[in-house]
Amino acid sequence: MTGITIALSKGRIFDETLPLLAAAGIVPGDDPESSRKLIIGTNRDDVRLVIVRASDVPTYVQYGAADLGIAGKDVLLEHGGNGLYQPLDLNIARCRMMVAVPDGFDYEQAVKRGARLRVATKYIQTAREHFGAKGVHVDLIKLYGSMELAPLVGLADAIVDLVSSGNTLKANNLHAVEEIMAISSRLIVNQAALKMKREILQPVIDAFAAAVQP
Ligand code: ATP
Ligand code: MG
Repeated sequence: MTGITIALSKGRIFDETLPLLAAAGIVPGDDPESSRKLIIGTNRDDVRLVIVRASDVPTYVQYGAADLGIAGKDVLLEHGGNGLYQPLDLNIARCRMMVAVPDGFDYEQAVKRGARLRVATKYIQTAREHFGAKGVHVDLIKLYGSMELAPLVGLADAIVDLVSSGNTLKANNLHAVEEIMAISSRLIVNQAALKMKREILQPVIDAFAAAVQP
């Protein structure tokens, strides 16, 4: 294949990537929300998109099944970033990684007491690092979605999750007690592809860089 493949996930990352693609002269031939196609052509013969689960994007790029990808910092931290070149923060899909607890729970007090906390999260690595650095003892419970439910049914004392408006927390009688880090999505590049296909890849990377919004 003489062209390049870009791995994207549906939803907010795809939507917020469209203007960046446009800046590189790339227009998708289908809308992944309505199409069932997993490989989407573009107006350019040498560029195609593959639509994968957000947390699978780094894996496709790591193994060279895609040359480029766009993935949240949350996803990259869990993946580890092996084999990936991360040249650009695209400043899209912005949110915050937070610790949240039920409204009646005194988190500060529990931490001060040295209590062992049960924390439910999709982000095991990030959570382990955060609580480890704080010296808080935690039992981490891996979930794949709807973390907000866990404290409401006694599965966990706290959650680590992504928050943007905070409306989902509020709707479930939870509140954020700690910010772990700001999150946005990054461009990731397969390191071998960057050498082999630099003629096609570099202009796309440069166009993305020039189109990033502050
Ligand atoms: P799936 O829904 O398939 O389980 P996901 O929840 O990780 O996967 P999205 O919800 O589309 O997929 O999130 C994709 C990325 O967008 C996340 O990895 C994160 O970087 C970012 N993101 C997640 N939630 C928000 C949010 N509320 N606001 C802004 N960006 C977010
Ligand atoms: Mg989701």
